[in-house]
Amino acid sequence: MLKTMTVPFVDLVAQYDSIKEEVDRAISEVVSTAAFVGGKWVNEFAEAFAAELGVKHCVPVGNGTDAIYIVLRMLGVGSGDEVIVPATSWISTSEVVSQTGARPVFVDVDQCMHMDVSKVEAVVTDRTKAIIPVHLYGQAAEMDAIVEIANRHGLYIVEDCAQAHFASYKGRRVGLFGVAGTFSFYPGKNLGAYGDAGAIVTDDDELALRCRMYANHGALKKHEHQMEGINSRLDGIQAAVLLVKLARIHHWNRKRAEIADRYDRLLLDIPGVTTPVRRGSASHVFHLYVIKCDRRDELRSWLGRHNVATAIHYPTPLPLLPAYRYLRQGPCDFPSATEAHRRIVSLPMYPEMPDDHVAYVASAIREFAARSCS
Ligand SMILES: *Cc1c(COP(=O)(O)O)cnc(C)c1O
Repeated sequence: MLKTMTVPFVDLVAQYDSIKEEVDRAISEVVSTAAFVGGKWVNEFAEAFAAELGVKHCVPVGNGTDAIYIVLRMLGVGSGDEVIVPATSWISTSEVVSQTGARPVFVDVDQCMHMDVSKVEAVVTDRTKAIIPVHLYGQAAEMDAIVEIANRHGLYIVEDCAQAHFASYKGRRVGLFGVAGTFSFYPGKNLGAYGDAGAIVTDDDELALRCRMYANHGALKKHEHQMEGINSRLDGIQAAVLLVKLARIHHWNRKRAEIADRYDRLLLDIPGVTTPVRRGSASHVFHLYVIKCDRRDELRSWLGRHNVATAIHYPTPLPLLPAYRYLRQGPCDFPSATEAHRRIVSLPMYPEMPDDHVAYVASAIREFAARSCS
């Protein structure tokens, strides 16, 4: 029998403890100078993030969902258009397409739970305007093929990088492959604020300018509204926190990768358990460590009884959610996603996760497999 430990899925307080003094000082400076919305910290963070990524513009916005929406709107995507999205993602990816008036067109996923590039061409029509690859779980999607298809059909690529800060594909950072990349800084993401926050990155001067305006009521200067827009701004406190954390992101991403390697080794030969498939051409920043298991629900309750928290990202493929019933698609339209969503389970993963927790989770899984086989 294992000696019981309590293993949380993530521990955001552990990270705060490691940067407490710097973060507290930064927040207090924002408050004492009343730089609540916009201002010095927001500009500094946007510049630092763009520089670190190696992109010309970073437009800070209110959250990662708005980031995609704003880009699509400013590209002119709207009613009558179609936008290709993967069947597996957080609903933001497809939701924002509908918000513009366009229609999300779902594509089944591959082993990495990314858009299956061999199934994209079949759904391109003369109404298709854009394609949104999602670098799900922190691993870059198959960008060579996506870029090739997008070029052939004249489609915009908007990369959803919400789970993949500083991941790369063939040595190039995600977010830089298409016309724009979008990021979320939701607290649990690899680079997380202490509330909602997001950003758009692009090398396109005109698009950056339009996104910046649109996110701020269509104005660059107060009262000079060039168009109607929305209110989606990054606030000073979030920017100050993000600036402190940006200095450590590569270290934290490395820690995640080390934990993933450790999991991989410990879970290697367990029957019925598949560790995350790694794409040779892509780096993986392990926002999530997702295994596949034949008896997923039993494994989850077993782990729960051993005080190991797990999660499922995500229980249902997007097109099979009630929200998309109107598309009249079923499991047969997305065979890989349907099969995979029954088997995926996300294990605890955060940079500060102690080694003995990783070992404990792996032993608990090994014990589960041994019992089920005997
Ligand atoms: C988190 C997430 C978003 C949305 O980000 P928010 O900041 O929560 O709006 C979009 N896409 C994916 C894949 C995400 O994981």
